[in-house]
Amino acid sequence: MKSAWNIFLVAPLFLLLPLRASASPASDDQPSIRSPNGHTCLACVAVVSVIEQLAQVHNSTVEASMERLCSYLPEKLFLKTTCYLVIEMFGPDIIKLLSTDMNADVVCHTLEFCKQDPGRPLCHLYPLPKTLRGYHWRGRDCNDSNKMAYPGRRPDNWDVHEDSNCNGIWGVDPKDGIPYEKKFCEGSQPRGIILLGDSAGAHFHISPEWITASQMSLKSFISLPTALTNELNWPQISGTTGFLDSFSGIKENSIYLRLRKRNRCNHRDYQNISRNGASSKNLERFIESLSRNQLLDHPAIVLYAMVGNDVCNGKVDPVPEMTTPEKLYSNIMQTLKYLNSHLPNGSHVILYGLPDGTFLWNNLHDRYYPLGWLNKDVTYAHFYSFLNCLQVSPCHSWMSSNKTLRTLTSERAKQLSNTLKKIASSQKFTNFDLFYADFDFQEVTKEWQKRGGQPWQLIEPVDGFHPNEVALLLLADRLWKKMELQWPHVLGKENPFNAQIEQVFGDQGGH
Ligand code: CA
Repeated sequence: MKSAWNIFLVAPLFLLLPLRASASPASDDQPSIRSPNGHTCLACVAVVSVIEQLAQVHNSTVEASMERLCSYLPEKLFLKTTCYLVIEMFGPDIIKLLSTDMNADVVCHTLEFCKQDPGRPLCHLYPLPKTLRGYHWRGRDCNDSNKMAYPGRRPDNWDVHEDSNCNGIWGVDPKDGIPYEKKFCEGSQPRGIILLGDSAGAHFHISPEWITASQMSLKSFISLPTALTNELNWPQISGTTGFLDSFSGIKENSIYLRLRKRNRCNHRDYQNISRNGASSKNLERFIESLSRNQLLDHPAIVLYAMVGNDVCNGKVDPVPEMTTPEKLYSNIMQTLKYLNSHLPNGSHVILYGLPDGTFLWNNLHDRYYPLGWLNKDVTYAHFYSFLNCLQVSPCHSWMSSNKTLRTLTSERAKQLSNTLKKIASSQKFTNFDLFYADFDFQEVTKEWQKRGGQPWQLIEPVDGFHPNEVALLLLADRLWKKMELQWPHVLGKENPFNAQIEQVFGDQGGH
């Protein structure tokens, strides 16, 4: 077998005989994880469905049903061996995904065997769930048999019988007969946090260990499968919606964890609606995955943070592709109108400005790139120029040796930030109030230097572009303090029952 992906094509042949003829040429093409074709998708959905249904038929675990499937296959044509190999490679991911009640369509999209091509419909065999992404991106629904139980809704009948809003608080206090949700959360003004963002908001991160020969070991790739299923993003430790303790050991928490600490009734109410490459221009294509019921749900704080792609692209001449202030104005107004017709009354929207990206070149260009660490032969200037030559740079305009271009890009970013500021101060909406905050990377750098750090330590080392986990959490800290100081009503009150909630409900069912 030439590649792992071909193995996946072979395994279901016994199920999909008609596929045999058309699949053969495809296996010469070596379909890669980034360019799956219809055959890989069909094969994946078929195999995962059979695994899922075998588990159902025999009332067994997913793991046992994969074993069972392989044991049924004949030795001939390496079918059995291939099957065990497939289990070894993808089994843990399939088990994990199926255990979170995703169906075969979702599993295969998540594992990138299925892909939606631009301009084509999303192909799916089973009825489509609300989102293809898992709980790393938004708070987990907590009751499979009740679609009306989800994070962020106002409790149904004070959650006497079940946890309708998934915050881990439900039932009745036996001492006085009062429902806990009423006792602990009534009047506490619960709210969720929703991020409309790009790869920075999703926390794009490629571990340097994956490309650094001197640091590579058996342990290096443990996190790779999870990262791939999230398009190399780590929303679970991101600045806005992260819910896990930081990997970097920094003590600052995400906006979500702070909102949760302020009011434990907010538990699980987070949504990270971010995409790699997102900007004001393409947000309309995925804003519909924002889920908030205007009548049933609590208000939300929505952070609009498209911090780069309106000025960043990989074109030879990036300038004509940049968003103009006029275009940004109309894009944002369209987004705000959409939000006004979808957010519950009493919500808040914060527009984040764009950074001045000249710090990338200024702090990195003469430092060694990870692939240059061993032989001291590749700097970020070399790396940037290689990306620009290939026209695959995430931001030719700032990751460039051309100072005029870098300056011009910062000027445009400033104009766009000013447009956002102007909109925030002049426009009024019925269902939310509107604010603007600078994306203040310079201030964050100063704070980091005060702690003895260096500015380059705030940038993702492998891509040389994204703010890293520490930078994202410091930015979140800055935004939080600004809200506390200038717009405290956005955050709501501290809930006096937090300690009691913890006492009765522990970790409230986790995340
Ligand atoms: Ca509840």
